Amino acid sequence: MELKNKNILIVGLGVTGVATARFLINKGAFVTVADRKKEQELGSEELLIRDLGIKMELGAHRIETFENADLIVISPGVPHTIDPVIKAKEQGIPVMGEIELASRFIAEPIIAVTGTNGKTTTTTLLCKMLEESGLKVFVGGNIGNPLIAYADRREKADIVVIEVSSFQLDTIDTFRANVAVLLNITEDHMNRYSDLNAYAKSKARIFENQQPDDTAVLNGSDPVVCSLSKDILSRKVFFSSKKEKGVTISDESIISQENISRLLADFKLPGKHNMENAAAASLAALAAGGTFEGVGSALRKFKGLSHRLEHINTLNGIDFFNDSKATNVDSVAKALETFERPIVLIMGGRNKGSKFYALRDLIDKHTKALIFIGEAKEDIMAELGSIKHVEAAATMEDAVFKAYHAAKPGDIVLLSPACASFDMYNNYAQRGEDFCKAVAKIGTVYS
Ligand code: ADP
Repeated sequence: MELKNKNILIVGLGVTGVATARFLINKGAFVTVADRKKEQELGSEELLIRDLGIKMELGAHRIETFENADLIVISPGVPHTIDPVIKAKEQGIPVMGEIELASRFIAEPIIAVTGTNGKTTTTTLLCKMLEESGLKVFVGGNIGNPLIAYADRREKADIVVIEVSSFQLDTIDTFRANVAVLLNITEDHMNRYSDLNAYAKSKARIFENQQPDDTAVLNGSDPVVCSLSKDILSRKVFFSSKKEKGVTISDESIISQENISRLLADFKLPGKHNMENAAAASLAALAAGGTFEGVGSALRKFKGLSHRLEHINTLNGIDFFNDSKATNVDSVAKALETFERPIVLIMGGRNKGSKFYALRDLIDKHTKALIFIGEAKEDIMAELGSIKHVEAAATMEDAVFKAYHAAKPGDIVLLSPACASFDMYNNYAQRGEDFCKAVAKIGTVYS
């Protein structure tokens, strides 16, 4: 793909936009970046790229800039359906996402992981399995480094592992994953997709360019994943999890049933969903050249990630868990199913168009009280308020203190919001840290 002297427009200037700009400049292109942000909203990294000779168009988009480009590259945060992009496409201007562009400059095998939930956990674990197998791994995509940063790098890895979101899959064309993992599909981002079907179709694109000698790792317990698997051309391997039976696999082309069960017996993260993540990562790692020993060693060592069902503290016999990354209904469902003990659940934030009532039965069964925070308070109250003792809280600290009072020794206090964090915080991590701060304060206030 020739980029030299081409007029290329990048839409969206975040971490990915900056990395894409650097890559394109190194390839000799003329680069313009368009972003709706204002100058004063840009970070230092974003401002620095101007020194590379990049033109910036901030504020409202100018249609001429889109129509005069030889190529448009969209960052993952920008919907590919915005007006100027549609108009440029109608004029025949090629439009692609950063993953697509990067993949055209990568010769190493690629493993891609997608799904509504569990992507980061699975991608991280998978990377560790391959490293423990002695391979040099680049890990990135939707976590950490953008894929284009790897394409720009001289030093190459043996294998590339990426987490990909549905937004990134919306803008691929020839992107091919040698091993592709689809963990699950449940409702999310209903403010960006017309319905579950549209969202599922976007996720399924991870398999679109796979060849018969590639591998698809699929969740056989997930009805939506199963329904779309018939169109996949590569070798399909399913994992399924049943509480009684543990994890089963559909065939033994990668590993025997006995050996996968042996491997997973050493994995200690709580919840059936984490067993699914571990099974998916193991199958993908082995399909990509990882060793049985490497996979086993990573499974034994893996402690889980912050803000995902993370045990924070035990105070007065009450266990506190930070699950701030649970930003949709299914991740909260999985958190509730994980525990046998009564839960005081803190939920709320910015509503992404979720159906909270889908949690009714689990809330009825597992929780003793609900504390609501953030913008979505009223929405959640309307859907779940009638089932349990509920309270609204003004701040995270207020919520944590109320939860502490509602709990008894032996209970669990769980932050698992089912909402985005942007109404009160910059991101989920900040929300999780605020929760931890409030938990720490209980010790000082009530001791
Ligand atoms: P993602 O990168 O897809 O957002 P994470 O690994 O960051 O996934 O986890 C996000 C949330 O989803 C956390 O609350 C976590 O406990 C929950 N989760 C992790 N794996 C799964 C799974 N397989 N199914 C449902 N929920 C999951």
